[in-house]
Amino acid sequence: MKFQPQKIIISPEVKNAPMVKTILHNCPTASIKYTTIDHEPACLHQKNVLLLTQNKGNFYKPCPGTISYLCCLYKILNIGVNCPLSCSYCILQAYLEHSIPTVHVNIEKMIEELDGRFDQYPSRVFRIGTGEFTDSLAFDHLTEFSKMLIPYFALKDNAFLELKTKTDIIDNLGNLDHRQKTVVSWSLNASRIVREEEHNAPSVDRRLLAAKKCQDWGYKLAFHFDPIIFFPGWEIEYQDVIDELFSMVNPSRVVWISLGCFRYIPKLKPIIQEKFSESRIIYEEFIRGLDGKMRYLEVIREQMYSQLISRIRKHAPNVFLYFCMESPKIWQKCLGFCPANNGELQSLLNEQCLKGS
Ligand code: SF4
Repeated sequence: MKFQPQKIIISPEVKNAPMVKTILHNCPTASIKYTTIDHEPACLHQKNVLLLTQNKGNFYKPCPGTISYLCCLYKILNIGVNCPLSCSYCILQAYLEHSIPTVHVNIEKMIEELDGRFDQYPSRVFRIGTGEFTDSLAFDHLTEFSKMLIPYFALKDNAFLELKTKTDIIDNLGNLDHRQKTVVSWSLNASRIVREEEHNAPSVDRRLLAAKKCQDWGYKLAFHFDPIIFFPGWEIEYQDVIDELFSMVNPSRVVWISLGCFRYIPKLKPIIQEKFSESRIIYEEFIRGLDGKMRYLEVIREQMYSQLISRIRKHAPNVFLYFCMESPKIWQKCLGFCPANNGELQSLLNEQCLKGS
């Protein structure tokens, strides 16, 4: 179900922002309060509240990635934090002090920042996503953000946008002149994980129906199997999702698929235990990785990746696959090659963006 907040908190400094007007128009039944979040401590962890505020820092920033493993040098557009979904494994729970779905509405500043970057480095390729600190489309029926962002990127020669989502909120994406400069991507998971760990998220079927529609509208697509989670029967369930994916989507429209096994910073464990006491995902055998995150044993990661890759390759032998935050050893063993460094991985992904554009 699409998110409709019961209450909207609007920071006084953004009360006249055009996006606030759009959101209020799309939330006719919500109660409205003009104040700062410091004055509403009771709302700090409510998912039925929406906070509209300004991004006081930079909209554009490098993905934090992780040290000691290969990263793709992704760039983030920080359009908001948190989202209306409640994934038990959500890393934001350990990073942020509140879990209120939040939209940064001072988008004039964002456009200024982007224009500045793109003009300053005209020969660089920018691959930018909005789905790192929130879900790219979970608020789109309220903000109508895609209607502005997709045409903006369509006119930029050296920039590509990735909208990464677990939702099927794509209505605004039809009829836009995207010029294939936007990649719409979905996080996918085994049905059991979707059911038990991705609370409030649409089923895989609904996500893939949305992906098919975007394919029909000419968008490039991408998929992320992340976090891949170990549970009894994972082999069959992940195989089923991959089969379903390629029964819906043409492999030639898929620019990349990423894979990443479940990993977490130790601080997240007690949060999951308290908020999602029925979840079993933290009770496997983990080791502390070089970046301090808890990961499955290498032998388990290798087994899981190999199985998923072989199923993906069966349907899509040429699709570009990459790992998010994995060791060179795993790259070599499971994909048969390893980029020399983060820069090479970035170039390979940029090439995928540029193909056919
Ligand atoms: S969709 Fe992403 S941001 Fe939202 S709760 Fe799940 S992991 Fe966190």
